[in-house]
Amino acid sequence: MPLDQVIISYRRSRNFINVLLLRSMNLFQPVLGESPSEKLIVSANGICWREQNLEYRILVNDFFDIATRNEDGEVPFNLVEKEGNNLAFGLALRRIPHRALDERTVSVDKGELLLRINPFTRCSLHCGNCANKVVGERQYLQIREIPMTTMMPQNYFCARNKLPVYPTEEELFYGLNYLVVSTDLLGIGVTTTEGHRCIQCSRCQQPVGEYLGRDVAAQLFADALRLVTTESPFEFKEIFGHITPTQMMIRLLHDAYPISMEKTRLLLKTVRPDGQLQYLYLQVDTKQLHILRSELDTSDLEMNSTAQLPMEDDTSSESDLDMVLSDTSSSSINPQTGDDLMDRSDPLPKPEAAEPQKSVKYLNLRGFGGFRLKYLFSASDEELNESDNVTSSWCDQGSRMIRISYSMMVDLMTEFNAHERVAAALEMNSPPTKSRQPRLTYVIFEPDEEFYARQEQFAKIDQ
Ligand SMILES: [Zn+2]
Repeated sequence: MPLDQVIISYRRSRNFINVLLLRSMNLFQPVLGESPSEKLIVSANGICWREQNLEYRILVNDFFDIATRNEDGEVPFNLVEKEGNNLAFGLALRRIPHRALDERTVSVDKGELLLRINPFTRCSLHCGNCANKVVGERQYLQIREIPMTTMMPQNYFCARNKLPVYPTEEELFYGLNYLVVSTDLLGIGVTTTEGHRCIQCSRCQQPVGEYLGRDVAAQLFADALRLVTTESPFEFKEIFGHITPTQMMIRLLHDAYPISMEKTRLLLKTVRPDGQLQYLYLQVDTKQLHILRSELDTSDLEMNSTAQLPMEDDTSSESDLDMVLSDTSSSSINPQTGDDLMDRSDPLPKPEAAEPQKSVKYLNLRGFGGFRLKYLFSASDEELNESDNVTSSWCDQGSRMIRISYSMMVDLMTEFNAHERVAAALEMNSPPTKSRQPRLTYVIFEPDEEFYARQEQFAKIDQ
């Protein structure tokens, strides 16, 4: 069963890591029970997994320094769990070089929102449900993002102890899934609810926004509206382009409501195109999560070797901080490049009796940042009723409902589902099942180009 991928998680301020070795079935070899030759070797600088004539070496010394003996001289890693073909275990750390860890973590900054309204083109805004014109055709000469990353624009337009900010008719402000315009732009296309807070489409009564403060400004829900520009007058367009789950979470976490030193909450809401209301409850650990993942394709690093034990498992000296290969016949291998430096014309040193030639693979790790969270999704009226007490207690404790678009909700849920099996395996929990209990998952921050490259790959597989 070849090793497909290695995933290591580290939660900030802990002194241990969780390791998951994902293995696939080798379809070309019948599996006759467990191989007696499987072996896991841990040294200060890495992990080595051996099975039959295959050996995988996972170097972690760029990130951590593993403890292989505790004060009593015992091996301090916990039980190795086997779930299907996969292997999970925890390892204690001797030293955590946080700076090095941060430097080796793929950094993802907040990106730009792709707003399809520009100062040069006239446009009108229409109800996404019935196409009724909500804001008439006009040109916004000043278009600006809300000067702080928040889904709660009232904090900017109606900040406490400050004069309210009234947008002019030429100004348009925007944030994730919303626009803020002057209330003077609203005409017969909208009605307001009693209490004068909610702005509805006058034809189909769908909520399309709400007033900020006492008519200071109108916040419009981008997902409830469509855009028509003079450039393409017959096309109803989405107001914003696609945003990746990473970029979404970077922005949403700004508005997460702290409930303790270690936890924050987010209460998200969306309206499905058929009108079904859906809520997503997130409880996020504020301590950053580091995920180290091996690249899936390691074939270019494959090599043959007659190596003996490649990693030192005695940590009494400092010299083992580096991978020591020089004391074995595998000194001919350059672990950085995978080049076989041995002169092929020389006969290979004879392997020891009955010892087959070993194939060695180095798995390189890449570090990603992210967060660990628990989520509960209420997708139907029945589920919304069941979680009604959660909604009211969260709101009572200070959380505010944040509206996102339906496609954003789908993307978030896809991301959560994709990582929850790995999260359960890493933390040695039983695999996730369909239930109304909050589910554990990870959000892993990745650059946009990697997200879209992955989507393209999936699309190719689907074809
Ligand atoms: Zn409408």
